Amino acid sequence: MLRAVCASANPHKVAEMFDLMGGIIDLLPRPAELPDVVEDADTLVGNARLKAIAVCDATGLPALADDTGLEVDALHGAPGVRTARFAGEHATDADNRQKMLAELDGKSRSCRFRTIALLRFPDGREIIAEGVCEGMIAENEIGDRGFGYDPLFIASEGDGRTFAQMSVDEKHVLSHRGKAFRALSVMLAELK
Ligand code: IMP
Repeated sequence: MLRAVCASANPHKVAEMFDLMGGIIDLLPRPAELPDVVEDADTLVGNARLKAIAVCDATGLPALADDTGLEVDALHGAPGVRTARFAGEHATDADNRQKMLAELDGKSRSCRFRTIALLRFPDGREIIAEGVCEGMIAENEIGDRGFGYDPLFIASEGDGRTFAQMSVDEKHVLSHRGKAFRALSVMLAELK
């Protein structure tokens, strides 16, 4: 089994990445002493690559990164690559959700989550997969599971519940991250 280091420092994302890839890659946690990476690229691939390079350089091992954006049609695709900083540089998840509800008052609520899953090897080779989950922003926050925008996101292929009302396994079946990492697994198997 390929051994790789998780390049995410977000504990919620780390949990989902271990869940999705644990049986496919021998995934090690990101070294705790590694400083946070400034995610200042202008694309999701660029930010995933910045996180992966930092971990590859520090460990000498392959690195598995994820970068995710929420694209809202009424906001012309924003916040996109700025999803984590939607309500400001040091915004919390709750701040971001509150701003989203305020911005969409009276507007169309269609949107999608997009995840880039990127596996980078120390020699610079990369495997990149994308997962997209179409959905709607709910009128209010519903549910207490998950993280980030989960209490606001209703997947089009789901049953009307938000991701925050679903078990982790139910979310993985539908989610951007589930799709991206399943696609990455197929690409990895084809490499061998
Ligand atoms: P990043 O990929 O860590 O930069 O995350 C971007 C932003 O999207 C952060 O505000 C996360 O909380 C949010 N986010 C990422 N993945 C999910 C998800 O699966 N559900 C809800 N919010 C998410």
